Amino acid sequence: MLVHVPVATARRTRGILVCAIGVGLAVAGAQASRRASSPERKLYEELNALRADRTHVYHIQEFALHRDAVRLAFEDGTIGLLEPFEGRVLGAVFSGSARVLVTPRDSAEKWSLSRFVGAPLLDEPVSKVYLRFTDGTAAEIESYLKSTGAKPVDDPAFLSDWDAVLGNLNPTNSLRTLRDLDSPSPLTYFQAVLAGGQQGNFEVSVDTRRPEQVLLGQVRYREGGRYYNLWAMFPSGESHGSPESVEPLRYSIETTVQDDLVLRGRTQMTFRALRDGERLIPMVLSRGLRVQSVRDQSGQTLDFFQNEDLSEKEVLRKGDDLFFVVAPEPTRAGQEIHWEVEYSGNVIADAGNGVFYVGARGAWYPHPNEAAHFCSFDLTFRWPRRLDLVATGNKTDEHEEGDWRVGHWVSDTPTAIAGFNLGSYSRSSAEAGSVHITVNVNQQLEQALSRLFRPQPGNPTAESAPIGWRRTSEAWKMAYLAAAPSPLPVPTPVIGQLARDIGEALRSMEQWNGAFPFVRLEVSPLPAALGQSWPGLLYLSTLTFVPKETQQRAGVGKRVSFSFTDLMPFHELAHQWWGNLVDYTSYRDEWMMEGLANYCALLYLDSRRPAEHVLAHALEGYREDLLERIPEGSQITDQIGPLSLGHRLDSSLTPDGFSRVIYAKGTWVVHMLRMMLQDPTAKDPDARFRGLLHALLEKHRFSALPEADLRGELERIMTPHMDLESLHSMDWFFEQWVHATGIPRYSLDYKVAAGTTGFQVEGTLRQEGVPDTFLARVPLYMTSGPAKPVLLGWVETSGIETRFRFHAATKPAHIAIDPGQTLLAVTQ
Ligand SMILES: [Zn+2]
Repeated sequence: MLVHVPVATARRTRGILVCAIGVGLAVAGAQASRRASSPERKLYEELNALRADRTHVYHIQEFALHRDAVRLAFEDGTIGLLEPFEGRVLGAVFSGSARVLVTPRDSAEKWSLSRFVGAPLLDEPVSKVYLRFTDGTAAEIESYLKSTGAKPVDDPAFLSDWDAVLGNLNPTNSLRTLRDLDSPSPLTYFQAVLAGGQQGNFEVSVDTRRPEQVLLGQVRYREGGRYYNLWAMFPSGESHGSPESVEPLRYSIETTVQDDLVLRGRTQMTFRALRDGERLIPMVLSRGLRVQSVRDQSGQTLDFFQNEDLSEKEVLRKGDDLFFVVAPEPTRAGQEIHWEVEYSGNVIADAGNGVFYVGARGAWYPHPNEAAHFCSFDLTFRWPRRLDLVATGNKTDEHEEGDWRVGHWVSDTPTAIAGFNLGSYSRSSAEAGSVHITVNVNQQLEQALSRLFRPQPGNPTAESAPIGWRRTSEAWKMAYLAAAPSPLPVPTPVIGQLARDIGEALRSMEQWNGAFPFVRLEVSPLPAALGQSWPGLLYLSTLTFVPKETQQRAGVGKRVSFSFTDLMPFHELAHQWWGNLVDYTSYRDEWMMEGLANYCALLYLDSRRPAEHVLAHALEGYREDLLERIPEGSQITDQIGPLSLGHRLDSSLTPDGFSRVIYAKGTWVVHMLRMMLQDPTAKDPDARFRGLLHALLEKHRFSALPEADLRGELERIMTPHMDLESLHSMDWFFEQWVHATGIPRYSLDYKVAAGTTGFQVEGTLRQEGVPDTFLARVPLYMTSGPAKPVLLGWVETSGIETRFRFHAATKPAHIAIDPGQTLLAVTQ
């Protein structure tokens, strides 16, 4: 039995087409770290070494533990308490027959659980249980043993059975346990790793250090990839305060990129403690970078834990991007703390032809593992003179020092993240109002792309270029991996045009979103099939810089070409507002940033090329995508999961579930909101939608935007037509479109009769494919002759069939359901 506990790591993808290519990142060579040996290290090692206490093994029957929605019933078997640690029992192991029952509270989580285990609740017999806890479980077990008068038994086979398992599993719990042992006000946890049932090994935990305390899930492998399938995760019934322990305030980061691309960094960070009594502070840093030292403001060396007990090979395979620093004394809420962290390693890869892949863009400097906090950054870089470097913030200086270039960037607004890019660039600039835009592009294409655009007989990547963007991941990975020696220059006219286009888009987006949040914008290339948006810095796939004609000659499909060349630059540009001016905190809200950014990009393209109906075509394409059967089963793409599952949509069942669902459905949800808010009779039909975007960006400027606030803002401006429940609430909309799956299918049955004045249209609108409780306001249009369709009326659906009756001045030749695409639906 070997289960690894998931550790939350920062996910700041914000990208379109999140499918990082297979660029391997080497781990820094082994370094003898000069770390202080703290009492915590000794405790950590002792916790790892805990085994079942041979004097505390008992036969038990009919004993159950309840933790929130979890019931763990030990029916008949042997339990062994772990050896006491500083007088406390912190775990137990069980062999025999047991059963675990979990019922998630809300329907989305029931749905998620059902997708993984085939039922909306978990009721699983198991034969082995590994229990760890810092809550009152020990007292409960001891009280049960006392009440039944259970006597210890001698069972050497039981003990030796568990020895190796404890050796494997303890290290995944020791740091978590230490955080509570050290704290005078611990945030306790309870975890059970279960085996022997039909589901294989899985875990159930209730951890008050998580915003959503109850978790069920398991590790699964697919095609060499390791996934943590999160079956269900939800808040416990009891209310808990925020589990955040610190809040970052300032960073000063000095970085040297060596000639061999090794990154050496020193980050001085200032943060504020939010809780009393914390000793172990979790930090995010790419596993490709090895921490060398941590010091506090008095220069005292602090101990830290980074991918302990893993070899260098294992770090890449199963390590994580977290490390834990041992504070010299327990934190006091409100206290400001200054630490200096030194690290080095390899997060930059050479893609050939002088093109570099800057990886770990969200984890190249250490930062607390908390939700996004906006703060200030001061960045100093030192890099080989032959290369160019761009970074977030305002560049205050760049000069040469021998073979080196040195530059200094200071953030002029609060930002949640900092980043840089590196290459040998050609540049082109444009102005958009007071914003200075620079487009940087490599002088050549990286080897892999270069080969793609020089197709040779038998080169499969050129002939089987991908057609749909959701299928790009694998196809492009193949293309990128097929390296070739012949360099191909990037035509420079492209970058001048791109700079002007981005300038034009920026001005256009300001009409929807308000002033651009930064004084300058650097656009830079990334040799990968993805784009990302950092404050004032865009990363665009190198493919974006290849002219469309060249792409077409190489067999790149129209839709991929549209995604990379037409959409990506403006999608990432829109993230400057939606993602960098406001940010999401919970993974459940990431869809809002993706949906809003993508919709803004489509609005811009639509206004720029009105004859091409870009928005309508994109919505139609997304609808088709969502209705398409997934190759992994009988379901359609929409059924991979609701938007509110965020990155949990990626699992071994659907490795690219996030990118398949979030962009398509997120864009549709934003479109449906805009359509509901639209007033076709007003001078500015979109005034309400524009007001919504402005209000959200203004009220949440440089902070997080939770879904509840989007809902609240909508309820403030909603029209009576949007109040389908007559409760002055938008709950119906979010429950149906964000927290559930389902795309309604509509069909009509009607008859037309001549009346005294005009015609009576009477009929039934059928709604299928969604629950009977599904609410919608469906517009019906009539056509007669070649004239434009005329609105006949709206049908507010209730149940499978809704009857309607409308009056028409002229005789309708045909009645169409929502021809203007205001709803994500299938119409017949
Ligand atoms: Zn995006």
